[in-house]
Amino acid sequence: MTTQHTELAHPPLTRLSEDEQLFRESVYEFAGREVRPLVREMDDHAKIGRPLIDKLFDLGVMGIEVPESYSGGGASFFHSVLAVEALSRVDPSIGVLVDVQNTLVVNALLRWGTDEVKRRYLPQLASRVVGAYALSEAGSGSDAFAMATRAAEAGDGFRITGRKLWITNGNEADVFIVFANINPEAGYRGITAFIVERGFPGFTVGKKEDKLGIRASSTCELLFEDCVVPRANVLGEIGKGYKVAIETLNEGRIGIGAQMIGLAQGALDHAIGYTKERKQFGKAIAEFQAVKHQLARAATDLEAARLLVYNAARLRDARQPFLTEAAMCKIFSSEVAERVTSLAVNLFGGNGFVKDYPVEKLFRDAKIGQIYEGTSNLQLETIAKQMLG
Ligand SMILES: Cc1cc2nc3c(=O)[nH]c(=O)nc-3n(C[C@H](O)[C@H](O)[C@H](O)COP(=O)(O)OP(=O)(O)OC[C@H]3O[C@@H](n4cnc5c(N)ncnc54)[C@H](O)[C@@H]3O)c2cc1C
Repeated sequence: MTTQHTELAHPPLTRLSEDEQLFRESVYEFAGREVRPLVREMDDHAKIGRPLIDKLFDLGVMGIEVPESYSGGGASFFHSVLAVEALSRVDPSIGVLVDVQNTLVVNALLRWGTDEVKRRYLPQLASRVVGAYALSEAGSGSDAFAMATRAAEAGDGFRITGRKLWITNGNEADVFIVFANINPEAGYRGITAFIVERGFPGFTVGKKEDKLGIRASSTCELLFEDCVVPRANVLGEIGKGYKVAIETLNEGRIGIGAQMIGLAQGALDHAIGYTKERKQFGKAIAEFQAVKHQLARAATDLEAARLLVYNAARLRDARQPFLTEAAMCKIFSSEVAERVTSLAVNLFGGNGFVKDYPVEKLFRDAKIGQIYEGTSNLQLETIAKQMLG
């Protein structure tokens, strides 16, 4: 048999190529060096400082899939997943900043942008400009297409009026993908995607939410009062914004899966370290069978979640259908993240409940995985619809 000496036609899902492995290691090493010392402070102050964001750009993780001809990394969607996982292992707030930039904003521009749009925005996004993705509103979350934000033709462009809520990176972003309905009588077929720059007249970023978890990641309201947007900034076709929204989010939720497995791995790392150190009844608590088995169960859950996330990402890169797999990876990995972080809090005992130790934060951070980019109920709807027709 020669297979052990040759490349396998179907390598195991979690076996990374040399390039993928080096990439993940370099991002995780960066996270340990540059992010970890700031985690507590960023959570307390609910803020990510610009110097750290600049370092993320220098590292090359803000335009991972942007082609090299536009100053990007020229890498795959799977690389984005690896970066989000590695960063979230240290801080899921940094994980989501990078996730939104790559899996939603850059992804949508690559797929739907004209050459002019790509030339204008991709080099900026890969090198210095943070992006945000604005679909949700106060009255339309799960039912996103019931949005009240309107766009109307005006001269050589459009005027947008309305409010968006819950927009990740709202504080840091200079480029926003914004969905508005241009023809409400046509229902969702009036929805159109626009690229809005922070400086466009009539656009302001409103209040920032004070949150349970991922506190350093900004979540903001956006206000549009006759905001003037040039015609060239329509992303995709007029009336086809619903496709931009659905198809981008289908991919984006694999990134949330990556955030959740990174987060769960971080909590498991802490739990392993602590239980080997902490002594009760004369021995390390990791030596108690009950504790060992809980850790083994958590590791098994996490491995299963990682397989779902990696498979969905690899399917997406292979241009195979991945809708069901993406929904499954998000629902499962967010549940695993909740279970593993909760276990980590338990295993830290009293220390799990205080801010001097890292696990209470990860427990708070885990909750968002079941809410954004489609709640768990909506993921189940997607899976059931694919299964039952
Ligand atoms: C921290 C944070 C960051 C976010 N970032 C962004 C962002 O960058 N861009 C953006 O556009 N949005 C963002 N969101 C919004 C997020 O996507 C929505 O909050 C989410 O889609 C849920 O919408 P909702 O809050 O209106 O809840 P609702 O839709 O009101 O849901 C409330 C509950 O009802 C359930 N429910 C609703 N409809 C159904 C149904 N048909 N069947 C069964 N159950 C149902 C839901 O599962 C949920 O449990 C963010 C939200 C948060 C909290």
